[in-house]
This record gives sequence, structure tokens and C-alpha cells, in this order.
Amino acid sequence: MNREKIENMDKQLTIALVAHDRRKADMVEWAVFNADMLSKHKLICTGTTGGLIQKAFEEKGVEAEIVCMNSGPLGGDAEIAALVVRKQINLAVFLIDDLNAQPHEADIQMLLRQCRVHNVPIACNRYSADLMITSSLWDDEDYVPSEPRYIKFDR
Ligand code: PGA
Repeated sequence: MNREKIENMDKQLTIALVAHDRRKADMVEWAVFNADMLSKHKLICTGTTGGLIQKAFEEKGVEAEIVCMNSGPLGGDAEIAALVVRKQINLAVFLIDDLNAQPHEADIQMLLRQCRVHNVPIACNRYSADLMITSSLWDDEDYVPSEPRYIKFDR
């Protein structure tokens, strides 16, 4: 993987990081593995996820700009969804616990839906997140993402 190129990305992104409780171990491990890259960007997290990433970064001596919203069940996902609507998020990594019911299912669906509506790349597993953070398209001046169209398809 061409990490050097990604770590030298010109653009500063605002990246949302959210992980449900049983997915936090994966999120922290992924964030620490990619700490050099992530520390060059602005990170917006739900409360507990952000606190854990901050602690793990401090232990590794990594300085990063981490903004913590409310905890997810108390509205953190909704706050991040509002930033998506305002076009203030470039990329979201959202590790959902798909095996256990969540009290804030409505907010989870809202965040996912607003990312789709506003064309924000959203990775729901580490593999997707790795692919997204290593994409050379971030710095490609000629690449213009096509917006979703909601039109009737006529054959
Ligand atoms: P948390 O929220 O990081 O505050 O735990 C995540 C979520 O449950 O959406």
C-alpha cells in the first residue's frame, strides 16, 4: 500500500469516526495503525469513540485534532449527521454493531441516509476504510464526484 503518498496528502480532510461499543476495539486498533495519516486531518467523533482514540493516541505520543460530540445514544450520531448535511464532513468511518440492537437505531439510519444523500463516502468496515483513506482521488484535481441522481429510469 502506498502509505507515504497518503500520509503526504495535500488536502486536509474532516473525518467522522463513530464506533458502537462492540466495534470500538476495531476502531481504536484501526485508528492507531493509521495514526500518522489521521493526525494530519481533523477528526470528529462521537463522545466515547473520540475519548478512546484520544487516549490511545496520547499513549503513542500522537498529536491529533479530535473533536468529541455527544455520545452516540445521546445524539452524537445526529450531530455528525447535521455536519454531513452542512457539507462539513469529507469521509465517515462508522463501525456499526450489526449483531446487537442499539437504542439509537433511528439516529444510526439518519447518519447513514444523510451520507448517502449528501454523497459522503462512508466506510462501515475496516476494509472499506482502508480503501477509502488510501485513495489517490482525494488529491486528484480533475476528479469530480458525481452526485446521486433521483430520477426515473426510462428504457
Ligand atoms: P459513542 O457513540 O462513541 O459515544 O459510544 C457511538 C454510537 O453508539 O453511535
